[in-house]
Amino acid sequence: MPEKPDKTSVALLPPDYHIHTPLCKHATGAPEEYRAAASAMRMAEMCFTDHGPDPSGYDLKHRMSLPQFPSYALMIRSIQDGHSPRVLLGIEADYYPGAEPFLRDWLPHQPFDLVLGSVHYINEWGFDSPDNLYVWDSVDVKGVWRQYFTLVAALVDLRLFDVITHFDLPKKFGHRIADRDLREMVRPLLDKVAAAGMAIEINTSGWRRAAAEAYPSPLILSLMREREIPITFGSDAHAPGDVGNQFEKAVALAREAGYSAYRRYCARQPSLCPL
Ligand code: ZN
Ligand code: FE
Ligand code: FE
Ligand code: ZN
Repeated sequence: MPEKPDKTSVALLPPDYHIHTPLCKHATGAPEEYRAAASAMRMAEMCFTDHGPDPSGYDLKHRMSLPQFPSYALMIRSIQDGHSPRVLLGIEADYYPGAEPFLRDWLPHQPFDLVLGSVHYINEWGFDSPDNLYVWDSVDVKGVWRQYFTLVAALVDLRLFDVITHFDLPKKFGHRIADRDLREMVRPLLDKVAAAGMAIEINTSGWRRAAAEAYPSPLILSLMREREIPITFGSDAHAPGDVGNQFEKAVALAREAGYSAYRRYCARQPSLCPL
């Protein structure tokens, strides 16, 4: 069924679909404060997407535990009062080889509006953590990018996620590869993303890092546009002041790449909204 434009929302800014809470142990501010920030920007909608649980103990220091999950859902539900901005319940779920059984059993049965899919680890290396930055000095950067995109391809193949977040995350600290290599790695992956009907987020947190540009780069965004891969917007807020960060710039970037619409989700059903 083709997605029809949804005319219910005439917001100045697109919704922020990537917001954390203190349950992940590295974010500050109550959900009410994130919501007040979105409200002050006259944002019509926002989605909390905190780092999801993993009962294997994977990266426990950056996420809620599984027993904490009901309190996360309740905390978000408690600010769904019908006033603007509308508040959605989402999750940022990590993919790594071995995560499949839990994700398959658990994710589809939760009352999410939106599921973001992320890759933060290559083998045992949390490559985007400042704590592990030194590891970059002893790796083949191009090889890391290749391994990373192989993991993202496996994430896509799982068909459990709605949106891929920070798509070119290995650039976070400034470790880049040639455009030629990037194109060669990304083209088949984007074909897969398009076939899966997934969206890719424009994540503005890259502008706050050494990468000094949003995820994904303008080059990748143009390759996405060629394949009509839908977009969402996310600040990756870990503090209330991050909500909607540099969204005007992100909208301009999307328009320059040829986008005239973005995707919304409700109960994991997508619709299109004019940009
Ligand atoms: Zn985080
Ligand atoms: Fe992330
Ligand atoms: Fe995040
Ligand atoms: Zn993130």
